[in-house]
Amino acid sequence: MPHSPLPPMPAFEPGWVWLAGAGPGDPCLLTLLAHHALGEADCVVHDALVDDGVLKLTRPGAQLIHAGKRGGRPSPGQPDISRRLVELARSGKKVLRLKGGDPFVFGRGGEEALALVAAGIPFRVIPGITAGIGGLSVAGIPATDRHTNHAITFITGRLAGGDIPDGLDWNALAAPGHALVIYMALARLASIADRLIAAGLASDTPVAVISRATTRHQKVIETTLANAAFDSRGLEAPAIVAIGAFVRLRAGLDWMGAMEGRILDADPLGTGTSREAV
Ligand code: SAH
Repeated sequence: MPHSPLPPMPAFEPGWVWLAGAGPGDPCLLTLLAHHALGEADCVVHDALVDDGVLKLTRPGAQLIHAGKRGGRPSPGQPDISRRLVELARSGKKVLRLKGGDPFVFGRGGEEALALVAAGIPFRVIPGITAGIGGLSVAGIPATDRHTNHAITFITGRLAGGDIPDGLDWNALAAPGHALVIYMALARLASIADRLIAAGLASDTPVAVISRATTRHQKVIETTLANAAFDSRGLEAPAIVAIGAFVRLRAGLDWMGAMEGRILDADPLGTGTSREAV
């Protein structure tokens, strides 16, 4: 049977900036619209987080501009990036600003879009799969499950200066029944775990660390809050950290592990709930 045609895509007009999420890594997880944009853009301004496999999808002749830290070179500051986007758009280019995950999740996409607003540049926002949801899904951890958590909190493990954010209510985060997903946490996992334990979260709370999610370098470890920093040494950034009872569901839902022979537990919470559904 012939494949259904794609829905019509909006025209990428010269002088516009499209601010798009590239998803967590695997090019197959791009949105159709981001893929369309890659094929149309005159220049693609991308972060270090954007996977090479995604960048390969740019049209031949498109200019690739790297706007992130890599290889020890100093990274352009945020005002420089915004200025560059404005200049490129004003010169009549179709500008694709491509960010890892979703452009509006811990990615300063909002700041860049506001700079475009200030300069009168028209723009479109294309969401992407954020690492804190998609990265967990591929690792077999559902962001929510009615038996473990009715809410989920996304946290940045890092402030611009490199410190753990201070404005956070660690006591509230440490309340039982919470599901925490921490971005940019790998280098500060020991102090984050200490803070949470000091605030009353049990040191045996399940933790998963997912490194380079959805790429062929993906590695996942399952550990506890007390051991997380030690067990994740050697893991590479970018990595996402999940903390809470929802991590235990991975024993049943690690579908990638199953392909390599892991025996899945149909009742990972030990509550017999999976049988209710049958
Ligand atoms: N806008 C991005 C987040 C940017 S902040 C998004 O929506 O996903 C950078 C952090 O994102 C990293 O430090 C890491 O915590 C997380 N991250 C991004 N891509 C990742 C990946 N492939 N695997 C694991 N974590 C990832």
